[in-house]
Amino acid sequence: MAREGGMAPGGGLIGLRADRMVDVEAGEVREGAVVLVRGERIEAVLDPGAPLPEGATTIDLPGHTLLPGLIDCHTHLVGELQGSGIPVIDRSAAQEALSGVANARATVLAGFTTVRDVGTFRAFVDVAIRDGTVLGPRMAVAGAYVTVPGGGGAVTGLAPDIELPLDLRFGEAASPAEVRRRVRAILYGGADFIKVIATGAVLALGTRPGAPELSPEELAAAVEEAALQGTHVAAHAHGRQGIVNAAVAGARSIEHGSLLDAEAADLLAERGTYLVADIYNGDYIAQEGARQGWPAETLAKNQATTQSQRDGFELAVKAGVKIAYGTDSGVYPHGWNARQLPYMVRHGMTPMAALRSATVVAAELLGWSDRVGALAPGRYADAIAVPGDPLADLGRLADVPFVLQGGRVLRWEKSDAPLSGPTPYLPA
Ligand SMILES: [Zn+2]
Repeated sequence: MAREGGMAPGGGLIGLRADRMVDVEAGEVREGAVVLVRGERIEAVLDPGAPLPEGATTIDLPGHTLLPGLIDCHTHLVGELQGSGIPVIDRSAAQEALSGVANARATVLAGFTTVRDVGTFRAFVDVAIRDGTVLGPRMAVAGAYVTVPGGGGAVTGLAPDIELPLDLRFGEAASPAEVRRRVRAILYGGADFIKVIATGAVLALGTRPGAPELSPEELAAAVEEAALQGTHVAAHAHGRQGIVNAAVAGARSIEHGSLLDAEAADLLAERGTYLVADIYNGDYIAQEGARQGWPAETLAKNQATTQSQRDGFELAVKAGVKIAYGTDSGVYPHGWNARQLPYMVRHGMTPMAALRSATVVAAELLGWSDRVGALAPGRYADAIAVPGDPLADLGRLADVPFVLQGGRVLRWEKSDAPLSGPTPYLPA
């Protein structure tokens, strides 16, 4: 019986007890450790058998492994799933927001308690969801795409004489000065960071993933302006030249990186640029896109980037590039975010490295290491538990029965006990 929305009991001092806990900072599994939660934060990680403080209630998760809440650094929570037509033009901002609310809920209930949401075609709908009182992950949001007009972040496929309203072209810029102006407007509008589109996109009609779009000067302007406002730039880049342009300009992360070669991988490693590569969804697009009759152009571009992206990912792992977990949810159904983890192991990472990429490394990329990404004192009490040993099979993380966010139980499928009162969380 799934339960959602329960409040933490007993004023919020809780001992979380599972068979084992993944310490992603140390890269080890700790047998029998107890995570002590006070209110919305983690107070301590106690040794096995250590007594719980007076007044603490317990949540017992026998047979389970505790992990930090997962982080996806490349989601698109706003709007409906990618379809076969021109995106968004038949939907109001209100409709986009309400879809986003459902998507946020699906994401957090799947164990992704934090996301970096990297763009919406209707500007600032992500800000509204982040700031709403909705059930969902903690969010860092991009506000709008900074893109060349007609480029990978624009609504393309319309006749050239159709003019879009401002909120569907808010981040369009055609010079370094315009980029600065757009970056400021997006950050003043409430975005947490800036998403630039450095190359064409697989899913934007008429654009070429291999082709650079924003110029090196425009990318540098975005990075500089973002830094003045104390934040970073995430750069969508498939083609090699666009990857290099964005990394040299100082982007904090390269998104997709589909046509990465060994030299570009070395450049990312050297500069400390994060790679956020969505290496799962190519399979989803190939299958579902063909079934739904997506445009041949889109399917061909997907085919041209799927295997090369996985090859590039392997090069990046070998070169020691910092890899943060990101999946491009919204292309595939929200809540399936963990399906990429086994792909990362198949393409060169250890299971622990893959888990670190979706926790401690992702938190570093967000600049949120003080609040999320590990079961450690001072962080938010964001945790998940799965039966058995997830390191033996990361596929287990695709079905998470227990989710805690900020000390609040959002999901505990095995519990038939009430969600308040003393020791209420004994599994059936
Ligand atoms: Zn994306």
